Amino acid sequence: MDALVVGFVVVQALVLGAAAGLAISRGRLIGRIRELLAEDPDANRRLASSDMGDGIDPEVAVRRLVDRASAAERRTTQVTRDRSLLLDMIGVGIIRLTDESVVETANIPAHQFLGRPAGSLIGRTAVEAFIDPVIETIAESARETGAAAGEVTLRYEDGPTLLVRARRSPVSGTWLIMEDVSELRRLQRIRAEFIDNLSHELRTPLSTVSLLAETLVGEAELAGEGIPSRMRDRITKIQVETDHLVQMVEELLDLSRIESGGPILLLDSVDLGRLAVASVERLRLFAERQGVSLVVDAPPDLPRVRGAEERLAQVLVNLVHNAVKFSPDGGEVAARVRSVGREVEVAVEDHGIGIPKADQARIFERFYKADKARRRGAGTGLGLAIARHVIESHDGRIWVESEEGQGSTFTFSVPTGEPEPV
Ligand code: ADP
Repeated sequence: MDALVVGFVVVQALVLGAAAGLAISRGRLIGRIRELLAEDPDANRRLASSDMGDGIDPEVAVRRLVDRASAAERRTTQVTRDRSLLLDMIGVGIIRLTDESVVETANIPAHQFLGRPAGSLIGRTAVEAFIDPVIETIAESARETGAAAGEVTLRYEDGPTLLVRARRSPVSGTWLIMEDVSELRRLQRIRAEFIDNLSHELRTPLSTVSLLAETLVGEAELAGEGIPSRMRDRITKIQVETDHLVQMVEELLDLSRIESGGPILLLDSVDLGRLAVASVERLRLFAERQGVSLVVDAPPDLPRVRGAEERLAQVLVNLVHNAVKFSPDGGEVAARVRSVGREVEVAVEDHGIGIPKADQARIFERFYKADKARRRGAGTGLGLAIARHVIESHDGRIWVESEEGQGSTFTFSVPTGEPEPV
């Protein structure tokens, strides 16, 4: 019992002692501030005329300031804790590096992605923290240029594929965001393999059907009036539709080859002006049949671009083919090539049906066809997806400007690869 009382008294004494200690240290702090105020005769006046209000006792003003500072500190602590919780809840990895490349903040997903125990990244240098030097390079490049991004598959067992984006902070340091895209890439691989297998399987029987249809058309022509005209029409239709199917399968194979066959090799020095002339020539007969005239506008002294000539020709043929296909009888299609800064720009312009605003953002997706085109039935909806892939492999851009009923202009630009002028 006595021990309990003694214990209680000791605890009380400790609590009182701690409170007294706090009061004394606070009193000391205020005392020190008063000393400083006494050393600086102007300070009292400044303090009295500050937002603490005129005519207030400096000691009260100082107490208020100290209280305000403590409240602000408490708020900062709360905001920091709140921010950490939010960072941990987000499914992406977030890391903040100081200007000296030391990890200052790292949320739980960042630790998980990098295969580290929670909290162990803080205070480590970028070299120690990141398993793969590519992440460090991305961070460094963002520090130098403002922003950088890249994809990396970590090489530990079952290591994820991460899409890493880094931005230099306007205040200090660099932020890194890491997204786990392993599942997405796996599904994309499966889809590409599926399309590849399917198109290979379809190609042989379709080629046979196409050959048979062609033979039938020839035989029907030879038979002349021996075959009713309705039957001849149907045979011709079978051939047209079969050709359409064969083209679709070829484009599917092309797309999966381009997407899964590694990077497109940029080995040729390409004159896009000459390529535009050649591509337009390939389509002249088709255009004539549609009653569409073709013009090319390309200066002779264009800078060359580094690229894959055959692929760029494929893009040009596709754009001109579409332009003719969607032009009215008597329309004109123009291919214009020009040099803009350190890029060469190619624009294919038509005055055809145009593309509704709502469809414009989607026509570069696989199989996407605007409503009117769908009604027309022709085409696979793959040409522009292939074009975008090819142009982006050249570090270029492709876009469309179009007004429904007025026409469309598809433009792509490819860098010349010339060094930046000093
Ligand atoms: P396809 O022409 O085989 O359908 P594309 O990928 O080349 O496939 O084009 C996708 C869609 O974009 C077309 O179906 C059509 O709706 C639209 N499109 C492309 N080029 C034009 C154009 N010049 N004028 C109008 N619509 C176009």
